[in-house]
Amino acid sequence: MASKKKEASLQASVTNQEQWEEMLATKGLTVVDVYQQWCGPCRAVVSLLRKIKNELGDDLLHFATAEADSIDALERYRGKCEPTFLFYGGGELVAVLRGANAPLLQRMIVEELAKEKLVLEQGGERKAVKDDGLVDDDKAEEEETLPQSENKESIIVPASKSYTVAIIKPDAVAHGKANEIIMKIQDAGFEILAHEERTLTEVEARDFYQHKAAEVDFEDLVQFMSSGLSHILVLSQVEDSTNVVAAWREFIGPADIEEARREKPESLRAQYGTQALFNAVHGSEDIDQAGRELAFLFPNFRTASVTEQDGEEERVERTLALIRPNVARENREEILAKIHESGFTVALQREEMLTEKQVRQFYFQHVEEDFFPALLQNMTSGPVLAMTLARIEAVEHWNNILGPSDVNKAREESPESLRAQFAVENEPINPLHGSASHDEAEREINFFFPKQQTLAMIKPDAMMEHKEKIWEEIHANGFSVMQQKETVLSRETAEEFYKEHREKLFFSQLVEFMCSGPCVMLILKKENAVEDWRAMLGPTDPDQAKETSPDSLRARFGSDILHNSVHGSSTEKHAEEEIRFIFGDISSEAELAGDGETVTTVLAKDKDSSAYENSGMSKSPTGGMSDNKQHNGDP
Ligand code: ATP
Ligand code: MG
Repeated sequence: MASKKKEASLQASVTNQEQWEEMLATKGLTVVDVYQQWCGPCRAVVSLLRKIKNELGDDLLHFATAEADSIDALERYRGKCEPTFLFYGGGELVAVLRGANAPLLQRMIVEELAKEKLVLEQGGERKAVKDDGLVDDDKAEEEETLPQSENKESIIVPASKSYTVAIIKPDAVAHGKANEIIMKIQDAGFEILAHEERTLTEVEARDFYQHKAAEVDFEDLVQFMSSGLSHILVLSQVEDSTNVVAAWREFIGPADIEEARREKPESLRAQYGTQALFNAVHGSEDIDQAGRELAFLFPNFRTASVTEQDGEEERVERTLALIRPNVARENREEILAKIHESGFTVALQREEMLTEKQVRQFYFQHVEEDFFPALLQNMTSGPVLAMTLARIEAVEHWNNILGPSDVNKAREESPESLRAQFAVENEPINPLHGSASHDEAEREINFFFPKQQTLAMIKPDAMMEHKEKIWEEIHANGFSVMQQKETVLSRETAEEFYKEHREKLFFSQLVEFMCSGPCVMLILKKENAVEDWRAMLGPTDPDQAKETSPDSLRARFGSDILHNSVHGSSTEKHAEEEIRFIFGDISSEAELAGDGETVTTVLAKDKDSSAYENSGMSKSPTGGMSDNKQHNGDP
């Protein structure tokens, strides 16, 4: 048996109620081995705990042993011989493990510690759980009711919206990567329609993968998939025009993680997969499979076509939320936490300083009202945080938790409401905005997040090796390709296109290069397209890009400042001019198919046609763009 001293320092020994309370007050995650006096703490895990402590070396991770018989709070655990580990964060029970399952214990420690840190460092929500052994613990019970009732609600998407099923598998969850992956998913333009955390049973895992039953690894796969918590998601795309099933499969990369690392280093599997079976994420194979998986994992899921038959059902919708400028920064965090707690997904978010003109435009219905001067003053006093929130019945639900728009009324009648809780001292205007109706929500979302178009180009240097890859990433990042053509630029076109650089020393080099072979021109569309595409490009000089944004296209594919692989319009105005110059007047809103294959055929067809009959850039800034463009326009 190992030396007593070492063990004492590894696991705090809790033997009475007072020590128990002291332990609960400890900052960080405490993993408590609950034992019976007559069998003693679980020796089997001590060396594992030491190894974990050494590897993680984390001050926020604590271990303890607690004797069930002498601590009142553990009354329910008395007389049970099976080893039981209770995980406490901030005095609340956050997870329970029964049995000395070392790999699972290790995974849970890593994951729960990561979660606790999120709570402590970023003000995330701590999810308390209720253990059967602790039915009397009403605090835990209270916390538990919310997520449970949420799960029982039907989840509904419009039948027209395509969706796919995604799973963040137990390996990624156990490594504490779930949140990071979810953020990347949202950044890439996917919208999360449903989100559930649960451990698949063995039977479920078997059924889910029944189509793989003949494969040699099948049993291992079932064991793995049922070994711990997964995050099960239903995804669609913010810009619902591309095939989300294919876009998601692109985004996760090949199932074989070696191949993923080689061929698609940016993919989720390349980044988060650990070994053969443990490839971090799942995606439905095709639309039919997505439907089957959805029915299997979310029996409550309905599409709106079902809804229409019985008008009672709720549906996923979007609403616009604004946090007004004078709400304190620290309250913003708290409000965001409440938004998540209430089951909303933040689909789009931007901070913006509004001009008087914009406020008048946004609140056009209120300009005549007595309170308008105060509203105007408030809304122009600093940057406002605008968010698109999504969930079932988003408009109604957001208004419900906001409370009455009159702050005094909110304070008197519903002190629990967000407007009462976050009201600003001596300020007549309430702190938060919500759209009044579904139609108004769409208008308001479009005001803050107008769909934009930008001109993208795959330059001659990237055409041979990187064209497909760039195309894939365009889709994976939620852009719709409205138009595209492959062509060899004439000297005149190249000169005109880059005329702003006519005086530069590198101009002739640049023109020479741009005409040196075929390139692809694309019109890309999505909310915030100009900025988002520039962000994907990275800095002009690939060397600098490698330093400051190594994931950017230029960092990965460019070879020097001239041969930098891709172009993107620099402002919305330039985008309009360049689109007009390259494609002429476009009336068609049609957009191209989302898979690389279709493109190749389109490209082949287009190859011979000369693109530039109508040269000379138009000065007119209009044409097919959002009505609100002045809002987002000049920087
Ligand atoms: P683009 O307009 O192609 O999207 P950008 O807006 O990042 O790129 P600009 O300043 O507009 O950069 O330059 C246009 C192009 O001219 C660059 O993409 C690059 O190919 C070339 N270029 C810019 N600076 C130099 C330089 N110092 N030497 C050689 N080529 C350059
Ligand atoms: Mg430029």
